[in-house]
Amino acid sequence: MQKEQRPAVADWFTADDGQVRLKGTRCNDCGTPYFPKNTLACRNPQCTGAHDGSELVEYLFSTRGRIWSYADARYKPPAPYVSADPFVPYVVAAVELEVEQMVILGQVERGLTVDDLAVGMPVELTVGTLYEDDDAEHTVWMWRPVND
Ligand SMILES: [Zn+2]
Repeated sequence: MQKEQRPAVADWFTADDGQVRLKGTRCNDCGTPYFPKNTLACRNPQCTGAHDGSELVEYLFSTRGRIWSYADARYKPPAPYVSADPFVPYVVAAVELEVEQMVILGQVERGLTVDDLAVGMPVELTVGTLYEDDDAEHTVWMWRPVND
């Protein structure tokens, strides 16, 4: 039987409409995006709203970018990080989003190695399994190469 799929971290991404999107916030005054969500105050020193309480609203990030850097993860990360048990090596990529120009870290889709990647390669968001337990597959956003 197929296990239930459940986000490993609640409310950091959505796939409700079939399209995976990272959920963050954005300043209504200056447009600065934040991921993960910043709900306190805008941290942009140039923001006019920063001094008298800017409004941060929920924001869905763009879904494509280019690999800025990447690395092999060959050792089980220490707590509080969670990973598959037994540990399965994976690849992480830092990706600069096209629209927001922000670098977002994420695992790369399973089955790919560092040999499959290159700096500047276009990628898009997808969802994959971070780890599994008796109840569910716990999912997280991942990067997947796409054609330019
Ligand atoms: Zn601002």
